[in-house]
This record gives sequence, C-alpha cells and structure tokens, in this order.
Amino acid sequence: MTPASSPLRLRLDGQALGRNWKWLAGRNPEAACGAALKANGYGLGAVEAMMALANAGCRDFFVATWAEAMELEVLGGLPVSVLHGVREDDMPLAHALRARPVLNTPEQVKRWQRARGGPCDVMVDTGMNRLGISVEDVVAGLIDNLEIETLMSHLACADEDHPMNARQRAWFAGLAGRTKAKRMSLANSAGIMLGSSYAFDLVRPGISLYGGVVRPEMAGHIAQVVQPEVEVLQRRRVLAGEPVGYNALWTAPRDTEVAIINLGYADGYWRGFSDKGSSSRGRFPVIGRVSMDLVALDVSTDPAMKEGDWLAMDYDLPTAAQQTGMSQYELLTGLGHRFKRYWV
Ligand SMILES: *Cc1c(COP(=O)(O)O)cnc(C)c1O
Repeated sequence: MTPASSPLRLRLDGQALGRNWKWLAGRNPEAACGAALKANGYGLGAVEAMMALANAGCRDFFVATWAEAMELEVLGGLPVSVLHGVREDDMPLAHALRARPVLNTPEQVKRWQRARGGPCDVMVDTGMNRLGISVEDVVAGLIDNLEIETLMSHLACADEDHPMNARQRAWFAGLAGRTKAKRMSLANSAGIMLGSSYAFDLVRPGISLYGGVVRPEMAGHIAQVVQPEVEVLQRRRVLAGEPVGYNALWTAPRDTEVAIINLGYADGYWRGFSDKGSSSRGRFPVIGRVSMDLVALDVSTDPAMKEGDWLAMDYDLPTAAQQTGMSQYELLTGLGHRFKRYWV
C-alpha cells in the first residue's frame, strides 16, 4: 500500500537552526555551546535536529531520558548526556549506550559508583530545588571519586532580571576547583544573554535554537525554524449573520469567504489561537473556535484560493505565545504526530 498522504506538514529549516546555534555560540566564544534535544528535539525530531546541529559544529547534546538517548545512538560518537540521571531500571541501557548520565541525587551517585559506571556528569542544585545534589554534599566530598566530565547547575529565572540569577551563579562559581570535573556549565538559552560570567565552560541552549526568543536582547537575531503548513479541505461562503464553528462563537459580520483547514488542537494548534491566530502573515485570520482537527480562516482577500491549496500558518513563537497565553516551549513541544516533518 502507498503510505497515506499527510494533509498537514511541519516545514523545518535546518539552516536557520544552524544559524541560531552559531549566533548563540558566538555570545561567549570562549565557552563551548551544546544543545538540548529532549522531548524529541523540542518537537522537531531529535535525530534530524541533532544532524543539523552537528553540521553547524555542536558537540554536546542533552536529552531527558534513556529512551531519548537510545534514539540518538544511530548517529554514534557524539556526546549525549541524560539529564534525568539513572534509575535502577536504566542501568542496563546506561551500560550499553555511549551516552552518560547526569547524576542528580546521592542515590544515583552511589548507584553509579557501585556499578563502576565510568564518565558521568553531575547536576548540583543551586536554589531551584528541582533536580540536583546539594552544594553542601559537593563540598562534603560526595562526588570526589567520580569521573566527572561536566558539573552543571540550572538557572530558575534566567528569562527575567531576577535576584536568583546572581545568587545561583555565585553558589555555582564557588564550586570551581572543588571537584575534578573537566568542565562547568550553568546557562540555558536565556542564561547565555546574562553575560560571560554565566557561561563557564559550556552553555546549554534549547528553546532559542528552535526559534524561541526568551530575552529581549535576542530579538532580531533568532530565526524562526518551525512553520506549520496545512491543506485547505473546503472553501465555502458564509452569509452575513451566519455562525462558524463550535458554540457559534463567531458570526459573519458580512458575507465571508471561509477556508476550512486540516489542523486543530490535537496537533498542538491550541484553542488559544481561536479568533487570534492567522495564516500567510496575517492575511487570513482564524475565525471562531479551533476544533480538534479543523480550523476556519477568513480568506475573503483571496478569490483564487481553492480546495487542495496549501497555506503557511503564522507561527512566530513570541507572537504565538502572546496570542495563546502559552509558553514558547509548550507551543513547540506540543506539535503532534500528524504533521509530516520535512527539512529544507
Ligand atoms: C531544558 C534544559 C536546558 C535548555 O533550556 P532552554 O530554556 O530550552 O534553553 C538546559 N539545561 C537543562 C538542565 C535543561 O533541562
């Protein structure tokens, strides 16, 4: 059987991804620049994103789980760190794969030592109170016998000018020379913009590689990477006074030409785009409520558009986040399985 032809696609720009990485790497030329690839490369496809980033020069990759690390094994060789560390159940894979764990708890440290696991990374908690061993445990020598590639911590508030930033940096900087770690790493995408004192030896951007603008200083420098494209399923004329969509939330103020497109909240095109989203740089506004699999657009300005035509949905992440009240992270990682992903 021929494979089903997809009525919705994600156009993924590998050049833009590479340029974003180079721009972020260039903010702190003395530090290495890695890439977070968790959650299927923030929804783009981890394997393809890793290839594009490796082509640009990236050599350090971060995923959340061992299943994600396994998926990247096909590319071989390049260093992958597993941010969630090793549970007992992960140990067989942790031995079998080249990826290394980021140890997060005293239990994980003991587990790795008992198994003579070899090179690893360590996450230290500097005040976010999410994952990581305490600064006190590091100072007390808990990780002295580990073969540590990268000692890392994670900033809680780097996308704001918040007193936590300097406090976390100071806690982390105080660990310099206290361990045998070859490198230290603190900054995510937003942290890169806080200045060179936050860069240490390695920075770990994620969202901004993929088009996220999370600090005002990035505006104009980060290119859009992800563009949803959809096919028109039906074109219809809606007479003045007639409603469109669930709950009849939109009523035609005048006779209106409407295109019904193959996209909905089940694809990650959330209901927050209802009456707010658009296609073709604002030319075709979304009207009424976003359905699970369908959206209506006002296409009155294009008499030629017809069933079977393809449209590009506007998906500039900072704009879409404002429209929907959702984070740029959610808008990327929610993009679903029904999109056919293709790289240009
Ligand atoms: C996700 C993640 C990153 C990347 O963060 P962005 O905000 O997407 O740049 C870096 N480090 C850790 C530990 C992470 O979990």
